[in-house]
Amino acid sequence: MAMNLRQNQAPLYIKVNETDNTAIIVNDGGLPKGTVFSCGLVLEEDVPQGHKVALTDLNQGDEIVRYGEVIGFADETIKCGSWIRGALVRMPAPPALDDLPLANRVPKPLPPLEGYTFEGYRNADGSAGTKNILGITTSVQCVVGVLDYAVKRIKEELLPKYPNVDNVVPLHHQYGCGVAINAPDAVIPIRTIQNLAKHPNFGGEVMVIGLGCEKLLPARIAPRNHDDILSLQDHKGFAAMIQSILEMAEERLIRLNSRTRVTCPASDLVIGMQCGGSDAFSGVTANPAVGYAADLLVRAGATVLFSEVTEVRDAIHLLTPRAVSEEVGHSLIEEMKWYDSYLRRGEADRSANPSPGNKKGGLSNVVEKALGSVAKSGTSPISGVLGPGEKAEQKGLLFAATPASDFVCGTLQLAAGMNLQVFTTGRGTPYGLSAAPVLKVSTRHSLSEHWADLIDINAGRIATGEASIEDVGWEIFRTILDVASGRKQTWADRWGLHNDLCLFNPAPVT
Ligand code: CA
Repeated sequence: MAMNLRQNQAPLYIKVNETDNTAIIVNDGGLPKGTVFSCGLVLEEDVPQGHKVALTDLNQGDEIVRYGEVIGFADETIKCGSWIRGALVRMPAPPALDDLPLANRVPKPLPPLEGYTFEGYRNADGSAGTKNILGITTSVQCVVGVLDYAVKRIKEELLPKYPNVDNVVPLHHQYGCGVAINAPDAVIPIRTIQNLAKHPNFGGEVMVIGLGCEKLLPARIAPRNHDDILSLQDHKGFAAMIQSILEMAEERLIRLNSRTRVTCPASDLVIGMQCGGSDAFSGVTANPAVGYAADLLVRAGATVLFSEVTEVRDAIHLLTPRAVSEEVGHSLIEEMKWYDSYLRRGEADRSANPSPGNKKGGLSNVVEKALGSVAKSGTSPISGVLGPGEKAEQKGLLFAATPASDFVCGTLQLAAGMNLQVFTTGRGTPYGLSAAPVLKVSTRHSLSEHWADLIDINAGRIATGEASIEDVGWEIFRTILDVASGRKQTWADRWGLHNDLCLFNPAPVT
């Protein structure tokens, strides 16, 4: 019924800012040539859903404006009512990093939200877990075959005896040997592995499987307790290795099993925001709703991470004024500069993002994508900046510098201590993480219908006027509390859909 209503809906477009000379088409399936909008605009040609229509005549070289910002320049004459195809949009230069305004428009903090809690696992270091997992990490990839064999046995033979433990998760990665471990950028993968081992969902009980001759010494991952380390070269034969791993795992399963959920304030949450498979709706439905939820979380005292440097770079001039201090503003700029030089080193530039799917979804270029992407950060002051793989040690809205790649961003946000991720998608991805729940928010109705058993929250209702940004923002906030408490399961967790950890290693491999 609801679907039919939407199919018969009057032609709709979304113009975000008063100064915009372009808007995106809302209706499922797009709209045909000759469509007349209530304002009198007539389509000159068929325009697909999510793609842009010109609201005025544009001459070659004219600015194309969306979100009140220039997303590009017309490469040829574009008539009012025409489809602004990606190929017609010439990309502007990125904002220069040397004279950006710093901390000059710091938003006033919103009123605190009191009394919101979730049921989590309290850890000795003061953090709180949203799951109770036995994590097993490694100091080198060489051991992964043995680890996987052992994990299969642990899941079959031991885990059923300890019903309070949610899962056993091997922390696979490709680092540890054959790498330039003293290169300056090696600090990134190393601190990522170190901080992953401290993830709140592992309850301080991570064990480390090493080989015995690797460059990354296992003691660097478990610096306090050498009882957490097991080296395969110390064992006589495969059977003895497996026996040792099973014994070490069982000691930890016994301790983890004795834990129960306790009421924790919402301020113990560390929520990561990410998008993947974005489309032109991302920036007007799901991302602003996630931004509203981010504001609610900050008001409740939680930590909120937003990331994805390549999708922030072209909107950096909108973020540095929100930095809580000039120092934080400089840190933001330093992360942008580092990434500019990283891309230059690889002879790539920012046009490497967006993906073909993003473009099919109506996004012309990374400028348009970035303006929609930063909506995930809400409107709070930016209180701090984390380098890739660093752990969050403060509350409020933080920029955690990561690549936009879904798996790398997810891994780095986990290293930052993220205990639940909110993930917006327009094109659709079944993405999930084994270490922390991932709540997926669709930007369009059609995706939430197409993938009803994969998408957790439908923000497409915002485009059709059936729900407001505030409505969906509150729904996301309340669902976060339910999922963090184990009262509700995400679709990805229900089906067990979990992507690989993926380290960010900008240093040489030897
Ligand atoms: Ca992403």
